[in-house]
Amino acid sequence: MAAVSGQSEQVIRARLRGLAGEPGALKQNMRRPLCRRCMAGKGIREPVYCYLPAHRTVCHRHRRWIGPLAHTLDNQLDLRDCPQVLRAARIHWRLANRYAELDLRAALGDARHMLIYWAHAEQREAAAILQAGLHAHVSAYPEVISIAATLLTARPQIEHADGSTLSASALLIVRIGERTTTHHNDDTPVEQWVQHHRLESLSDHRRQSDESPVSSTNARTRSAISRSRRIRISSVAEREESRRDQRRHGCS
Ligand SMILES: [Zn+2]
Repeated sequence: MAAVSGQSEQVIRARLRGLAGEPGALKQNMRRPLCRRCMAGKGIREPVYCYLPAHRTVCHRHRRWIGPLAHTLDNQLDLRDCPQVLRAARIHWRLANRYAELDLRAALGDARHMLIYWAHAEQREAAAILQAGLHAHVSAYPEVISIAATLLTARPQIEHADGSTLSASALLIVRIGERTTTHHNDDTPVEQWVQHHRLESLSDHRRQSDESPVSSTNARTRSAISRSRRIRISSVAEREESRRDQRRHGCS
């Protein structure tokens, strides 16, 4: 089927799972209608629902939002006055082509965690990242993508750098400031991120050096899966910690 359709096997499997109604694949944010104007150009007036990957967020031809939370045609926001969202969507697409899905997802989660932390620390309760709904999601999107891109680019340097965690996090927070044009005084979430990735890297190297050359490929695969799992677990733990902090500071 992959050969006939010209799609990768991975794409076919994802689509078929969705069509079969398997609960694990029925992720609400993946089921979204294709761009209303693209479909109108083909003479189709009814919404065409598809299971779209997370990084397919914008129709660049018509400059409309077709990303997460755009569950109906009316949700397809007009982005003609939002060049930063269009730019972020292009970066998101490139990141999805360059990095593993789990690494990108983890970076996006870490970026959201940092933005939520800073919004609370800087008492910006109206910040888009703290709000629910489609408009807030789209407003926060450019910053989330910028930070995720910065983290993914910095990760190899952070993991192999000899300098201190403090100097690495100071450098990283400057880069984040440059890409988001927002300066943050509190570098706690960045410092935690640097520390976490250095420990991850150290533990991966130790594990790999214990493996024989014959099984090194399997070791790398297991290591990558394990690392992604640990990042997800860590993100959950950090979110819980953040919620506890919010409660301590009286935030909802
Ligand atoms: Zn379109």
